Amino acid sequence: MARRRATDSKRARSRGGPDSFETLRSALRQFATERDWDQFHLPKNLAIALSVEVAELLEHFQWMPDRESAALPPGKRAEVREELADVLLYLIRLADKLDIDLVSAAADKMVINSKKYPVHKARGTSRKYTDL
Ligand SMILES: [Mg+2]
Repeated sequence: MARRRATDSKRARSRGGPDSFETLRSALRQFATERDWDQFHLPKNLAIALSVEVAELLEHFQWMPDRESAALPPGKRAEVREELADVLLYLIRLADKLDIDLVSAAADKMVINSKKYPVHKARGTSRKYTDL
């Protein structure tokens, strides 16, 4: 299992860089165009599909003992990997339809989060920022 993780990490590094989301965005556009699915890819529909995929991801963890969730058996890990991909693909497609740059949006949100959760208040606690 550790070897598989290293392989995915190695792949991500070799493929990495700022163009990775752009590559996926273009592939998703082509995928939809080829199937004439653009007509269905309204932001509302994509947001719903994204939520459904997140639920499919959660289903794998439902009732799972804490220890198992931290060290998934190989078969379960493969299933979770696919659901994570579904989530990412819908997220990228939705952001594309809304003309939102996910990387800069995420970077902006990290700045916001670091202000909400300053290290001196948030370190070692899982409390919400409103309760710090
Ligand atoms: Mg799925």
